[in-house]
Amino acid sequence: AKDKGRDQYDFYTETLNERAVQLMSLERELRQALRHDEFHLLFQPQVDLNTGDITAMEALIRWQHPERGEIMPDEFLPVAEDTGLIMPMGNWVLQNACMQIKLLHQLLGRGVRVAVNLSERQFRDPGLQNIIEFALRTSGLEARFLEIDITESMLMDDLHSVREQMARIQSTGVTITIDDFGTGYSSLKLLRSLPVDRLKIDQTFVRNMPADAGNTDIATSIIAIARQMDMAVVAEGVETEEQEYFLKMHGCSLVQGYRYATPMTFDDLYHYFSGDNDR
Ligand code: C2E
Ligand code: CA
Ligand code: CA
Repeated sequence: AKDKGRDQYDFYTETLNERAVQLMSLERELRQALRHDEFHLLFQPQVDLNTGDITAMEALIRWQHPERGEIMPDEFLPVAEDTGLIMPMGNWVLQNACMQIKLLHQLLGRGVRVAVNLSERQFRDPGLQNIIEFALRTSGLEARFLEIDITESMLMDDLHSVREQMARIQSTGVTITIDDFGTGYSSLKLLRSLPVDRLKIDQTFVRNMPADAGNTDIATSIIAIARQMDMAVVAEGVETEEQEYFLKMHGCSLVQGYRYATPMTFDDLYHYFSGDNDR
């Protein structure tokens, strides 16, 4: 029994070491990817069911690895966040999203909003206001066309600093959305005291709608809260007609999901907007 225990211990430390080595090489590769410009943005449209209009699109980062191909953000953002590499990466995202959407405006002859995700570290950065203002100024994008997605969990910090930071973001004129809403524990009182423009219902609540009564109840409550507070509400991860029907019936007409469009390249986005949908 003793020997067995020891084997397990060795096994455990070995996998831990392997994991540490993997993380270190990922960190090295990420640094190199930043230098070699291996990241790009995809854009996913957000649709208003009432009008059929595309009201915004969300910028989503992808890593084109020279050997491993396209890598999804869930695989590298945690390491980027832990190592601080998220700061230059996040600046790159903000800057490029603004530049590309400004270009889209020029090509289309009209404006449309772009939503950019912030990480926790970016949200805590006292220089964030300057970074947003710099991206707007150098791209020429008007502030009303930029939306900042912060997750509900980022509000669970020291209330004073959260308020201050959100006021700074608000002073740049951009729109503030609380992403993954319903997964955290923010109170309505807190929500009311912050300059929030819109709530995004987390896709876990949309997934099994309306079969899963618990999730469905949460979704309808979020819609009601948003209404009561005069905020817009967006549902993400909408895949089926049934989900769409249910959301619309409960007063949520802003939707995002594979049912309407998957995240796409800038080129495809341009064609999508030009009405050339069946490429
Ligand atoms: P998120 O902000 O909640 O983004 C929505 C995610 O849902 C995206 O995954 C999108 O591709 C996916 N999605 C869209 N429609 C559907 C659908 O109908 N069904 C399903 N199952 N999924 C759908 P993605 O692109 O893998 O991004 C994952 C997360 O990574 C994002 O979640 C966001 O938190 C983070 N992220 C992505 N890009 C950035 C970025 O540039 N900066 C930061 N800080 N975070 C980012
Ligand atoms: Ca988001
Ligand atoms: Ca989300």
